[in-house]
Amino acid sequence: MSTATTSTHEPAAAPETSANGGLVIQDLTVTYGVAQALFDVSLEVKGGTILAVLGVNGAGKSTLGRALSGLVPVTSGRIHFDGADITGLAPHRVSRAGLRYIPEGRGIFPGLSVADNLRQAVLQLGKANRKSAIDETFEVFPVLAQRRNQRAGSMSGGEQQMLAMSLSLVAGPRLIVADEMSLGLAPKMVSVVFASLERARSAGITIILIEQFIHRALAFADDCAIFSRGRVTWTGPAGTAGKEVLDSYLGEATDH
Ligand code: ATP
Repeated sequence: MSTATTSTHEPAAAPETSANGGLVIQDLTVTYGVAQALFDVSLEVKGGTILAVLGVNGAGKSTLGRALSGLVPVTSGRIHFDGADITGLAPHRVSRAGLRYIPEGRGIFPGLSVADNLRQAVLQLGKANRKSAIDETFEVFPVLAQRRNQRAGSMSGGEQQMLAMSLSLVAGPRLIVADEMSLGLAPKMVSVVFASLERARSAGITIILIEQFIHRALAFADDCAIFSRGRVTWTGPAGTAGKEVLDSYLGEATDH
């Protein structure tokens, strides 16, 4: 099954900004059947920087994440990542290219132990590197080491998100799209999620942070894009997204 109507186009030359784990999205349009979810979205994320993607429910944030990772077809437009045109690639090829999507509340095998989740994730690495990748994960996330024999689905929400993050990091991605990782978590667990995002940041990984905790996201990110009804309505440095901007583009959602 073809995943994108634009996949038959000749790859376009990659814009320079997309080098070194950067992302350049040009005029991206996505439709579900007859319903259009994204309208001519254009965005740039420099390698190693963090973009917060904000917007009320239904604004198109998850659709952006799904389109970037090849999970929904792109109707038109182009996506350049890490110096290559990835428009229309199947999800496993996007992942192999180094772009990992952590979907809302998923991405782990809840019935498997923590250690077995990691063993699955490292299968994509060469045999010689698998054990050290798991050992390193346990060093970076000691809570996961303590829970190595526990069924992943029986951990707290924050710990499950920590595991989801570690499974993404194990393959050495250049860019992570984190989709509402703190959704439904207690404040203490939200801090756990941000600590694991901090790990990714310090490893130089580009991050697209789709978040409902607007102020935490803005404090963490370099830049911000606000979505409204499938369109980018505001972009700028995260520090300049003041109360006026948030009130006028997000309205009641600024309570967080
Ligand atoms: P939320 O914060 O609620 O997850 P969002 O900003 O991530 O919202 P999307 O989930 O991307 O928004 O949804 C964008 C639009 O596309 C909405 O109008 C939604 O109803 C629609 N939509 C999303 N998924 C589908 C689908 N599988 N089929 C049809 N329409 C969809």
